[in-house]
Amino acid sequence: MKIAVLPGDGIGTEIVAEAVKVLNVLELPLEMEEAVVGGAAYEAKGHPLPDATLQLAKDADAVLFGAVGDWKFDKLERALRPEQAILGLRKHLGLFANLRPALCYEQLTHASSLKPELVAGLDILIIRELTGDIYFGQPRGRRTAVDGHFPGAEEAFDTMRYSRPEIERIAHVAFQAARRRGKKVTSVDKANVLETFQFWKDVVTEVHAQYPDVELEHMYVDNAAMQLVKAPKKFDVVVTGNMFGDILSDEAAMLTGSIGMLPSASLDANNKGLYEPSHGSAPDIAGKGVANPLATILSAAMMLRYTLAQPEAADRIESAVRAVLAAGLRTPDIYSDGTRKVGTREMGDAVVAAITGKTIKG
Ligand code: NAD
Repeated sequence: MKIAVLPGDGIGTEIVAEAVKVLNVLELPLEMEEAVVGGAAYEAKGHPLPDATLQLAKDADAVLFGAVGDWKFDKLERALRPEQAILGLRKHLGLFANLRPALCYEQLTHASSLKPELVAGLDILIIRELTGDIYFGQPRGRRTAVDGHFPGAEEAFDTMRYSRPEIERIAHVAFQAARRRGKKVTSVDKANVLETFQFWKDVVTEVHAQYPDVELEHMYVDNAAMQLVKAPKKFDVVVTGNMFGDILSDEAAMLTGSIGMLPSASLDANNKGLYEPSHGSAPDIAGKGVANPLATILSAAMMLRYTLAQPEAADRIESAVRAVLAAGLRTPDIYSDGTRKVGTREMGDAVVAAITGKTIKG
């Protein structure tokens, strides 16, 4: 099993090193090769996604990605900015399904802005379509209006569109994921107003016929935004388009209170995937050894589960993370009174210790 390891910038290098350490103790036949990406690649090779890095990612079974970006690159032309690397990888690898679990660990319920009873035990999976919708639809641009409320005025426009195959493939990802979890899919749309999302709803309903063991409910996006903060535990798998998913996945992430805990996966049609933490490169804390590596370690667990078909190994990592939290170890972002503050490396070491059956000092 070949893994392309792309640490990137800022805390990316620190947190990916911990995930690699964890993968190495699992005694699996993993072949890991590292390459530069993002700002680090721009500085070393003149481009955020050099050909050699892209080729490595294409040849690998899965990609483990840290984070890219630093304010010092903000003045570069857009095509050379670090963030273009992640967009390029999504495009070249055909990564159309973004999976973001929002899981609230019992020990961290206080970190949520919601009441503990609403989020304790929360375990939902947001699946966002990643390559279509109004973000990519053509035509788009600025022009002089010929009709509408102000003919002759300057206006801007984008195009919302989804084709049948785009909706079908993301619906299959959602129903298959639900089969491995709580067997319920909530498809989020705005079918009451938008033609595109009436079509979305119709196609998801058709695909559902192939998954009679999974329950399907449809929900308008405005209601979904409300239900996510009112009764988030009612959801299991949520599937939606690119724009609604962009917004709802961040809302769901904050239910858990700690961005340093949240993994993510972006999958292609064959379940090959790019796995990364949901957060960015955190330049404000880079190099200080205080970043929380757990989102990246949990991304490695997702990689084992979804792409490399090693569910037991994924379970071992996830149980180790629970054990470390139960022992009271906390990086500063999740620290509270009565727990023990540790750095990035110490947190990674503790997960390794838990996997290898050693006692963790709380
Ligand atoms: P960010 O996610 O990097 O940081 C937001 C806040 O969360 C910061 O205070 C940071 O210290 C904290 N934080 C993030 N991850 C943490 C962790 N693991 N442990 C502890 N604290 C953590 O978002 P930002 O500050 O808006 O962006 C910084 C850079 O990252 C920008 O250049 C942005 O473009 C880039 N970015 C990259 C990705 C990606 O690589 N996929 C995603 C988002 C942002």
